[in-house]
Amino acid sequence: MSESVSAAYIHVPFCIHRCGYCDFTVIANRDDLLSVYLDCLEQEISESLVEPQQLTTLFIGGGTPNYLPPEHLQRLLKILQRWLPVRSDGEFSIECNPEDFSSERMDVINEFNVNRVSLGVQSFQAEHLKTLERGHRPETVADVTQRLRDRGFQNISFDLIYAVPGQSLTDWETTLGHAILLAPQHISTYGLTYEKGTAFWTRRMKSQLEQAEDELERSMYASAMKELSQAGYDQYELSNHARSGFQCRHNQIYWNALPYYGFGPGAASLLNGERVTRYRSVTGWIKKIQKGESPCSDREVLGPDLARREAVMLGLRQLKGIHLSSYEERFNCSIRDLAPEEYDNFLKRGLLEIDNEHLRLTYEGRFLADTVVAEFL
Ligand code: SF4
Repeated sequence: MSESVSAAYIHVPFCIHRCGYCDFTVIANRDDLLSVYLDCLEQEISESLVEPQQLTTLFIGGGTPNYLPPEHLQRLLKILQRWLPVRSDGEFSIECNPEDFSSERMDVINEFNVNRVSLGVQSFQAEHLKTLERGHRPETVADVTQRLRDRGFQNISFDLIYAVPGQSLTDWETTLGHAILLAPQHISTYGLTYEKGTAFWTRRMKSQLEQAEDELERSMYASAMKELSQAGYDQYELSNHARSGFQCRHNQIYWNALPYYGFGPGAASLLNGERVTRYRSVTGWIKKIQKGESPCSDREVLGPDLARREAVMLGLRQLKGIHLSSYEERFNCSIRDLAPEEYDNFLKRGLLEIDNEHLRLTYEGRFLADTVVAEFL
């Protein structure tokens, strides 16, 4: 029996500029590629699917999907409506940059029934937006949020970044306070990371950027958990907080290690136990598709052992944890079998706990999540 797949991710690689910390598949100043990208995306999807697939969750990410001019955005959404229609009760998300988010573009996404907008807010302080090389002003976010609400968008999410060089704990709390005042349904908080190959990585190496101290970063994470919880957001994942009923359904597909389609440069799919990743180079991906060749650069079959371990890594990200007997039934082994000594040790040290038949990270364990999950990989 073939598996049922109800989720898809579409990668739109265009951005106005590459931010210094960005490690995503992104291309800037190549508007000449907009049409050819859409031609190739349509070809990739139609050749992979053969027939349309109805979805429960569809996520358009980037890059900056709302960088696409309205006519290109409309074409993208028409392709998706034709091949990957979303059920009327489904979740249809798009990532957007507050910068230059025109009302015309909002009207286009509204016309195609996108029902969740994730805004790359990052900070409400101009100096930190400048450090992050983001082009919008803090006050733009309120304007964008209002114009989205005026069009009936009820499910708005903000992405925020902490541990920005030069940012104090008070600065971060100011940003959290502004976010809470605008009352989005969902807030994601991420600590700034320095990925090899990015401009920030090089600048840190040259001591041009000072990375936040671990202790400060920890305080910022603790503060986000506290402030957002007090404001009525339920933390359901290490970095994600939502009003009741507004948890991101698409991301839960990933954290539950369920299958999904992926299309576009750099996108990954997980189908029939195989993770397939497409070329990250946008021009490389385009050339492959134009030549009628596979745009996939890597294939990894998740054998039983890797599938078991990845399910623990992803499942522990969720605050409710992993239901122990469901895990055993699905993977034919217990989580403890994967790393018995470490498992016992983490329970003893109070980093893991068993609550209501779920294995989960404790409050203290959330700060050391990477260390804990690494032992199960
Ligand atoms: S807007 Fe987002 S995707 Fe684009 S370059 Fe900046 S961080 Fe990367």
